Parts: sequence; structure tokens; C-alpha cells
Amino acid sequence: MILLSLTIEELFGKNTIESSLNKILKSDKEINSVLRIEKVEGNRDGKYYGVPFLVKDNILIKGTKTTNASKMLENYDSPYTATAVEKLLKAGFSVIGKTNMDEFAMGNTNEKSAFGPVKNPRDISRVPGGSSGGSAAAVAAGYVPFSLGSDTGGSVRQPASFCGVVGFKPSYGMISRYGLTAFSSSLDQIGVFANNVKDVALVTEIMKGKDIKDSTTIKHNVNLTENLEFDLSKAKVCIPKIVYNEHIGEDIKEKFELSIKFLKDKRAKVDVIDLPELEYSVAVYYIVAPSEASSNLARFDGIRYGLRKEAPGLSEMYRSTRESGFGIEVKRRIMMGTFNLSSAYYDQYFAKAAKVRKLMSEKLYKVLNDYDVIVTPTSPVLPPKLGERLSPLEYYLMDIFTIPANLSGLPGISIPFGNINNLPFGVHFMGQKMKDEALLSFSNTFFEKASKELNINV
Ligand code: GLN
Repeated sequence: MILLSLTIEELFGKNTIESSLNKILKSDKEINSVLRIEKVEGNRDGKYYGVPFLVKDNILIKGTKTTNASKMLENYDSPYTATAVEKLLKAGFSVIGKTNMDEFAMGNTNEKSAFGPVKNPRDISRVPGGSSGGSAAAVAAGYVPFSLGSDTGGSVRQPASFCGVVGFKPSYGMISRYGLTAFSSSLDQIGVFANNVKDVALVTEIMKGKDIKDSTTIKHNVNLTENLEFDLSKAKVCIPKIVYNEHIGEDIKEKFELSIKFLKDKRAKVDVIDLPELEYSVAVYYIVAPSEASSNLARFDGIRYGLRKEAPGLSEMYRSTRESGFGIEVKRRIMMGTFNLSSAYYDQYFAKAAKVRKLMSEKLYKVLNDYDVIVTPTSPVLPPKLGERLSPLEYYLMDIFTIPANLSGLPGISIPFGNINNLPFGVHFMGQKMKDEALLSFSNTFFEKASKELNINV
């Protein structure tokens, strides 16, 4: 494994683009994490010139296609470049390709891609997680030192956990969403995969900032890379009781306890607290996200973007385009969302979910006034086998620990914490809103000390 291999700063000055491309050509026929090699060179005068990265195929980069792993956008050329990517190119980093994903970022296993599933590089009989499965697998396979994904309900953190890499979703508003294909606009955020927390902090620092093209961005003045040490003996950590409920695998609980023991051995204060609001997070998410998605995806009508299936009459053309362009999960979400927003059911579903979301967020903000972080496993299960049959409910429950950060706009991070039966296990930390520097320094210290002292993640 390459977890503690070279950091971006160590790669500085070495041009690794060719060796990255060679690795992809050699190994990716099997893994299928890169949809297309597409090169966009970074600024030659930028500090990081020569360091390559890969980008999820729902982020626009001029000179590349942006397919969202959907037949709907199979031949869609990006008309402009996302702000976040623009900033990385300016710093010298070069894009070398776009990564596989669940169609329109809806999914947990990357099996919902129109261009075939991705295999988990740590065990190729298993899924890499989703929806940013390609970006997670590409870092785990050692193709690139970092990649970008998007996280609406856990799509960076859950695949990071499944593939044994670090995955970070910043606070809502930290990174511009301009150029990110909208799924659920009040939840979406661009996130980063890397081999260590320092690299995640560096890349986020470069991408962050107020952008007039995304009015939800917020100015953030603390440098995320400057102080990445945290005195764990002063840390206040809390575990929500739901970690111990029946949906969570015994093997996961056991391993999670070891991560808690490590924190206690470092003399961190750890409390178990009652946070019953979290029980509703999956239900709330699966009303809010499909509702916003049904509205955002209405633009794919055969006229303005991508695919058009000719048919007699306008309605027939809409119908046949959407019928053949979207996959089954996307259709399911659009139907659920349209139902939730219909005038007869709006108050019963969407309006109610919005209220519960508010209550949950307020509770989390309050808890995080008393604690530095909320800790849980990242996923209640280990990576399933490719093709394993899961009911929609089991499938959706996989997001239980990651969704709360999206609903409340908090930063969340998945940190690798060794293996269970040779499969990677991730611990999830959530911190105060727009205090991403604190979450990153806590996580960096935890990651470095646990990796070294317990001799894990190597
Ligand atoms: N797994 C969740 C879903 O299917 C989250 C997806 C995401 O974060 N993009 O909606």
C-alpha cells in the first residue's frame, strides 16, 4: 500500500505526469476508475507544475467531456472550467483525466455508472464505494497523489473509507460549486481524496474562497495548511449513541472501539451522547436530495443539453430522450422528487423534511460548541462484493453517518484506520462549520499518530 508514500510537497519539482499515465494504461483496464485520459496542462510557472490529478466526471473542465457517467451526456463537451479546477491549474497542477462515478452522483457502489462498474483496488472482487468511486480508486491504486470528487450525502467520504484513503468534504460554502453538475444544490460540495490529511488540506486551501459565480461561497481567512498539529490530550470528542444500534455490523463496532481506545490512550475526553435527531437523517436526505435533483435534472430535456431522441411531437421527444438517456436509479430519484414536490404532498414531505433538517442542524451546532469533533465509523458496513444484491433500504442506509454533515453544512472527513479482514476501515470526524482548520488539524494528528504508533495504514 502507498498510504504514507510521497506527499505533494515531496513531489514538488518532479514531473510525474508520464509515470501517472503509464500506471493508468497498465492497470486501469481492470479497475475502470478512469473514464477518459484527457490532458489539461497546468500553469508552467505555477508552484506545482508537473503534479497530476484526476477529476470526477461531473465537474466541468474546458477541453474535456463531462458525461456524469450518463448516456444523457455521453458526448457533452465542457463549455467552461469549474472555479475549483481553475485555481488548481493556476497553481500548476495538471488534469490528466476524468473519473468514473455513479450516474449523476446518485449511488453508493459505483455500479450505477452507464460506463461499467469500478473495482476496488484493495480487493477487486469488491466495490470501491460511490458515487465518487473512480476518484477514490484512482488514488488508492497510486495513479495520482490526489483527485477531486463531489459529496452530497457522503460520496467522497464513503468511497475513501472503502478504498483506504483520506476523503474530505469541506464546510458548505468553502469551495465554489460553479462548474459542478448540480445534483442537490443545498447539499453538494466538491471534496478531495489523497493519501494523507496534509495533502487534502493543501488542495482545499488552493480551491477555497468566495466566488461571485457561486453566491453560497463564504470567505474563510484561516490558512488550512499552517497548523496541522492538535494536542489530543485536550481534545473533546463525542460519539452519538446510534453507533451502537442494530444496523451497525459487529466487526465495524469492534474496530471502531479500537479507534476510540487510541483517543482515550492519548487522554482525549470521550463521551457517548444521545443524538436521536440523527436517526432521521437518511429519511430527510432521501426527501431533500431527490426533490432538488428532480428540479435540477429537468434541464436534460433533449433540447438544451446532450442526448436527443427524435420522436413525433415535443412531449414524445422529451419522453423518449429521458427514457433512454437516464438509468434506473436516476429515474427513481426523479420520480420520488417529483412526488415530494407535488402540491398535494409538499407539506407532508418536503416541508416537513426541511423542518427536521433545521432541528437536526441546530442540535449539531450546539453539540459542536461543547466538543471538538463528533466521531462515528464512516460506513456501517464494509465494501460489498460487486453485484451483491442489496435492497434499496440497505443501500440507502449506508449513508447514515455521512449525511448529517451535508444536511447541516458541516465539514466531515474519513480517515483510514487499518483493515478488517483485509478490507479498509474508515473513521469519520465532523467538526464545526467553517472551522475546517480545526477538523483538519485534529484529523491529521490522529491519522499520523495512529498510523505510526499502531503500525496501521502501511
Ligand atoms: N449515496 C448518496 C446518494 O446516493 C450520496 C451521493 C452523493 O454524495 N453524491 O445519493
